[in-house]
Amino acid sequence: MARLLVTGGAGFIGSALVRRILATSDDTVRVLDALTYAGGRDNLEEVVGERCELVVGDVRDRAAVAAALVGCDAVLHLAAESHVDRSIVDPDAFVSTNCDGTNVVCDEARRAGVERVVHVSTDEVYGSVTEGWATEDWPLRPSSPYSASKAGSDLIALSYHHTFGLDVVVTRGSNTYGPRQYPEKVIPLFVSRLLRGETVPLYGDGSNQREWLHVDDHADGILAVLRGAEPGSVVNVGGGVHLTNRELTDRLVALCDADPALVTPVADRLGHDLRYAIDAGRLRSLGWSPHFELDEGLAATVDWYRANTAWWERRR
Ligand code: NAD
Repeated sequence: MARLLVTGGAGFIGSALVRRILATSDDTVRVLDALTYAGGRDNLEEVVGERCELVVGDVRDRAAVAAALVGCDAVLHLAAESHVDRSIVDPDAFVSTNCDGTNVVCDEARRAGVERVVHVSTDEVYGSVTEGWATEDWPLRPSSPYSASKAGSDLIALSYHHTFGLDVVVTRGSNTYGPRQYPEKVIPLFVSRLLRGETVPLYGDGSNQREWLHVDDHADGILAVLRGAEPGSVVNVGGGVHLTNRELTDRLVALCDADPALVTPVADRLGHDLRYAIDAGRLRSLGWSPHFELDEGLAATVDWYRANTAWWERRR
């Protein structure tokens, strides 16, 4: 049995990760989360209890991080500002939380003597991959303040391995979908609007491609890395299935029984990456493979938003 600290555990992927840990192991979990607009107590309400504790605090606050680390064996660090569009409007918050926060988490983990830190990052650090599949040693060419701050945080985390011998591993996950994703990201934004008969904004000509991964498969990938990756390594977590934004939108329109005329082309996002694609061979060699087939996962996700309108209405 391990005692795990999950930063950002009240957010989308973090709360799914907490549920997977509790369902698949005897481990106990302490969540450290600042409960920004993206985090919610309701994301954890059915799991907080004997094996899971929620501590409200900021990863940039050394005292809060040090206190949360007491008695913990390992850290799963997910707390971050995560929305690209917000990073274009307010980059400061991204550099502050993603870079400063990661530095504090790693430094306090080192002082506390924890056995392993898993730093959860994104495939966006590779920038647009126009051809082929990025392996973990691909150059980092982030395009947005979000992805640049994540690339910086990856390097900060890895420096604690190289310099201090702290056992750090970095995951780089692809675009993730599923229940409880804040309705600013494309899938919950489009589903919540289409279910209300509202228009949805499609960037540019919709040709940008993304690789999609179900949140439970992402969580299982992070846990496989926690339990099996080499110290100091980077591991891609990729679903392997691509859709253009146009194809994704068409599927969501169909699943929501919505009028295709609700799709409204808008000016492209500044600096919009054309394609993300990662090679997940290293993670597969740890025994992981995705369980969700994309169409099945999207249908289940739309069903969840249909059945949980109060969850997303509170966040609109
Ligand atoms: P999210 O925005 O849903 O959740 C982030 C959580 O972090 C929230 O609960 C928020 O309250 C918390 N948080 C923010 N700032 C904090 C701070 N200063 N101190 C403590 N807590 C703070 O994000 P998500 O989509 O669940 O992403 C989680 C992690 O996974 C992020 O590091 C993100 O970069 C990475 N990631 C996300 C995706 C994706 O498609 N969503 C893909 C790959 C990697």
